[in-house]
Amino acid sequence: MCVGCREMKPKKELIRIVRTPQEEIMIDGSGKKSGRGVYICPDKICLQKALKSNRLEKSLQHHISDEVIERLKVGLGYEDKS
Ligand SMILES: [Zn+2]
Repeated sequence: MCVGCREMKPKKELIRIVRTPQEEIMIDGSGKKSGRGVYICPDKICLQKALKSNRLEKSLQHHISDEVIERLKVGLGYEDKS
């Protein structure tokens, strides 16, 4: 399920974001990193929803800093250059 729009989708259509045991938030391209993970559509709207609702933070049980948000945006392929 996507943490943004909460739609059920196959995992291969979603991107996994993981909080590693080292307390790092990162995109898990392989889907196999250990740690607490959430799934999200590769869609800007979903990231915005997940951040606005605090669902991403709650799901990962970790503060999401601006720096992490920027990294997620880049990792998800939609760097906001405006
Ligand atoms: Zn979504």
